[in-house]
Amino acid sequence: MTSYSDLGLVNTKDMFAKAIKGGYAIPAYNFNNMEQMQAIVQACVETKSPVILQVSSGARKYANQTLLRFMAQGAVQYARELGYDIPIVLHLDHGDSFELCKDCIETGFSSVMIDGSHLPYEENVALTKKVCEFAHSRKDYVTVEGELGVLAGVEDDVSSEHSHYTQPEEVEDFVKKTGADSLAISIGTSHGRTKFKPEQCTRDANGILIPPPLRFDILEEIEKRIPGFPIVLHGSSSVPIEYVKMIEKYGGVLKDSVGIPEEQLRKAAKSAVCKINIDSDGRLAMTALIRKVFAEKPDEFDPRKYLGPARDELKKMYMHKNINVLGSADRA
Ligand SMILES: [Zn+2]
Repeated sequence: MTSYSDLGLVNTKDMFAKAIKGGYAIPAYNFNNMEQMQAIVQACVETKSPVILQVSSGARKYANQTLLRFMAQGAVQYARELGYDIPIVLHLDHGDSFELCKDCIETGFSSVMIDGSHLPYEENVALTKKVCEFAHSRKDYVTVEGELGVLAGVEDDVSSEHSHYTQPEEVEDFVKKTGADSLAISIGTSHGRTKFKPEQCTRDANGILIPPPLRFDILEEIEKRIPGFPIVLHGSSSVPIEYVKMIEKYGGVLKDSVGIPEEQLRKAAKSAVCKINIDSDGRLAMTALIRKVFAEKPDEFDPRKYLGPARDELKKMYMHKNINVLGSADRA
């Protein structure tokens, strides 16, 4: 059994309290391999940003949970070597059972999400409460993220065709009964790179899809009911058009890609939203650069020669998010 403090990791408690007070959000970036991890750590050290490293169930299957945990431990040492000791959380993204959360907690995760949002309300409450009781009774307090409301879209093993917004009248009761440390809500964000169907959007003069705005009215209502409580936004990639265009220029096909405009995320980050999950944008950045190298240098076959540029682009993108979107730069 491993305690996360022995690995140099922290939970989200202080991080979120400071983020709400300071009007910014902590980046939650998913990682599945070494290059993504390097890009995240380099970007967050250089911008002096706290960070949440997220492991999804897809990542556990792809890379192995034990290996990912050791990589997170390595990230702490790597950040120190790079010259700045930023706070790092290792978080389970979309935990779907008590057993999985328990397993992650016992192997050194400092934070877990238990996603009971697809369950009937009372079952979601009971499951989340059970995870919280276990997580909070550890020698090192492990923080727990719950979820109310359902996001549309596909993210690894999490998918839902229909979304429904979080009902503000449920949040107070949920937080009180479960003891959760933070709450993921549904106000119009969505998993994946096609966050809205074209018929939900308008188009600008260039034919680019413009998504419907986030439901800030629901967010405000939630903030009124649980003042100062940490709120989380999933599915918050912006799906930058320059990456979509680059991928398509070099042979990819990404029809009807649309994300959440960055200015809306910046606005959300200034509220009680203190954790913003970004995964698809990283996938797009890496794919764009790998395709570019393959197209321009057909004789290249050294993985370092295409993963390297992909990693550099990823780092650049994360730095931009920290500085210009989340406002987490210089907060570590
Ligand atoms: Zn999610």
